[in-house]
Amino acid sequence: MTVTRFAPSPSGRLHLGHAYSAVLSRANGHRFRLRIEDLDPGRYRPEYVEGIFEDIDWLGLAVDGEPLVQSDRVAVYGKAFDRLRALGLVYPCFCTRADIAASLTAPHGDAASAYPGTCRRLPDNPTRRASTSHSWRLDAAKAVAVAGLPGWTEEGGTRFEARPEYIGDVILARKDAPSSYHLACVVDDAASGVTLVVRAEDLRPSTPIQRLLQTLLGLPEPAYLHHPLVTHGDGRRLAKRDLAPTLAAMRDAGCDGRQLAAELIAGQLPLGFRLSQS
Ligand code: GLU
Repeated sequence: MTVTRFAPSPSGRLHLGHAYSAVLSRANGHRFRLRIEDLDPGRYRPEYVEGIFEDIDWLGLAVDGEPLVQSDRVAVYGKAFDRLRALGLVYPCFCTRADIAASLTAPHGDAASAYPGTCRRLPDNPTRRASTSHSWRLDAAKAVAVAGLPGWTEEGGTRFEARPEYIGDVILARKDAPSSYHLACVVDDAASGVTLVVRAEDLRPSTPIQRLLQTLLGLPEPAYLHHPLVTHGDGRRLAKRDLAPTLAAMRDAGCDGRQLAAELIAGQLPLGFRLSQS
């Protein structure tokens, strides 16, 4: 049986792009799990969690099993992190965002590969670690030496090979967020028995990193469906500043959520929106 999941971050109300992802995940009678990705304390608002449940219900998407809430699972991510640490594949990083920006000379498009490796070269200093705020990064080169460069299979069977430039020294844990998106995501996809990860094309750069983490942690390999982004008709991405309509606003305007879900599954977008490859 195919098991999918919808994993929104409660940092705002859901919009059409989320609806498209959720509807595709629920399609074809897939077993459909819901996960609340609420690990980032700076972006997360409890009222948006309520909003996710309301919107999923409005779309008529029945969720299978109990939703998984990441803030409840910090200890589980800690164990996964400890395994990577025991393998010697992580290092503490003391850089601020400003440090990283200042040390990068080349333009870069992908945050995953954007860290210049400053702290990778430092000898371990437990005194500094005890006294200074830091994050923990994956030593990607070492990780690839251990696990290789695992590819992935898109639904339908096409196999993609990962390229080393897509695998950067990503953050695995931060002082203010006990696990990164990547680490929590692979641990939870495995815990929920997810066999097909459905998510938008803009998350494709995460897939090689997550396949690497799955391999290092001995987790099963799901298939992936990276679907086109829902954009405005002129190709602009949906963003709050562009006044992208939230599902809540569509509901308030009298739109029928179940009908919207049926149209989305048929690839029909409301007037003024379209599907775009990123
Ligand atoms: N929480 C992520 C987001 O809302 C989605 C993660 C995923 O589907 O892997 O963008």
